[in-house]
Amino acid sequence: MKNVYLDNNATTRVAPEVIDAMLPFFKELWGNPSSMHYFGGQVASYIEAARQEIASLIGADPSEIVFTSCGTESDNTAILGAAEVAGRNLRVITTRVEHPAVLAPCRRLKERGHELIELGVNSVGQLDLAELRRALAGGPAIVSVMWANNETGVIFPIEEVATMVKEAGSVMHTDAVQVIGKLPVDIRKVPVDMLSFSGHKLHAPKGIGVLYIRKGTKIRPFMLGGHQENGRRGGTENVPYIVGLGRACRLAAENMQDEATRVAKLRDKLETGLMNACPDVRVNGDRESRLPNTTNLSFQYIEGEAILYHLSDLGICASSGSACTSGSLEPSHVIRAMGVPFTAAHGSTRFSLCRYNTEEEIDYVIQHMPTIVTKLRALSPFVAQGRS
Ligand code: PLP
Repeated sequence: MKNVYLDNNATTRVAPEVIDAMLPFFKELWGNPSSMHYFGGQVASYIEAARQEIASLIGADPSEIVFTSCGTESDNTAILGAAEVAGRNLRVITTRVEHPAVLAPCRRLKERGHELIELGVNSVGQLDLAELRRALAGGPAIVSVMWANNETGVIFPIEEVATMVKEAGSVMHTDAVQVIGKLPVDIRKVPVDMLSFSGHKLHAPKGIGVLYIRKGTKIRPFMLGGHQENGRRGGTENVPYIVGLGRACRLAAENMQDEATRVAKLRDKLETGLMNACPDVRVNGDRESRLPNTTNLSFQYIEGEAILYHLSDLGICASSGSACTSGSLEPSHVIRAMGVPFTAAHGSTRFSLCRYNTEEEIDYVIQHMPTIVTKLRALSPFVAQGRS
C-alpha cells in the first residue's frame, strides 16, 4: 500500500542522518555524562556540542538551552515555573488557540485562584493586538502566545507581541514547536524570555524537547532532582536524543530556505488542486501569514473524521485538528475560536508536509479526493440545507 504522509505537524520521520548520529550513543558511548571517569566525560562533550548546534539555530547562547523530554514539558516548565517565582495574585495572558500543552497549565493556574485572560482570534485566526494591549495594561503578567498554530499554520507577529509584553514589564513565553526547523528564528531580534520546541517536529525523535531560557529570566525548576542542566532540570540526560536533535538542527539550518520554498510550492499545489477539484472548499487560516508546510481546508457539509478514514484507506495520512483533539466529535477549539461556520468546521482537515514529500504524492491526493468528497456529501444531511 502507498504511504503518503501529510501529517508532519503531528510528528515527523526521523531523518536518516539523525539516526546515524545517534547510534554510537546506544552502542559505544553509553556512559553517564555526570560520571567522574573518562567514559562519562567523553559523552558530556557531545552534549555540549549538540547544545551549541541547537543554540546557533535560534541565535541563542548555549547556556540558555535546557533539555527537556518534549514540547509539553517545556511549555509546562515555562508557565508553571515562572508562576512559582511570581507568587500570589498572578495575571496570566494566553490565547484561545494555544496547544493544550499551554492551555492546560494556564487553566491550572486559574484553578489555583490566579486571573487568566484568553485572547480571541479573528476569522482568519489572527490576534487582535489592541486586545493584547488592553490586557497588558491591567498590570504585570505571565504571557504565553504561540509563534505558529499547529492546526492552521497561522503565524502570530511574535516580535511585535514580545516587544509589547516586555514594554509592559511582563514575562514572555512562546510555544515555537511548529516554527523551529521550518522558519528562521533569531532570538536576538525577538525579545522573548522563554521559548519551547520539540525534537519530533523537526526530524529528530520523540522524547526530546528544549526550553530556551534567556539569561536573567527567573523560573523555578519543574523537574527536581539532580544538578543536571545547571540545576534547571533534574534527570540524567537523554544523550542519544540530544545528539540527534543537534544533528536535526544542523540539517534544518543548512537546508531551511530551499526546503521552505519547495515545501510551500507543494502545499500550494495541493491546496489549489483540491479547491479546483472539489466544490465548496475553504481555507481556514491567514494565507498571508502561514507556515510553508500547512494547509487547513474545510470540505463543507461533511465530517473531517470521515474524510480521514477514507484517505487512510488509500494510504494517505492527514489530520482533522491537533493530534490531541482528534477522536473527539467536536470541531477543534482552534477552528471554533475562528468562528468557522458549523457546516464547514466539522469538515476541517489539516495537511502538513515536510522535506520528504514529492509532487507525485500530491497528485495522488488531488486525484482521489473528489471521489471521497462526492461519496460523503451524498450521505450528508447538511448538503441540501446548507446550499439552500
Ligand atoms: N505545542 C505545539 C504547538 C504542538 O504542536 C505540540 C505537539 O503537537 C506541542 C506543543 C507538544 O509537543 P510534544 O508532543 O513534544 O509534547
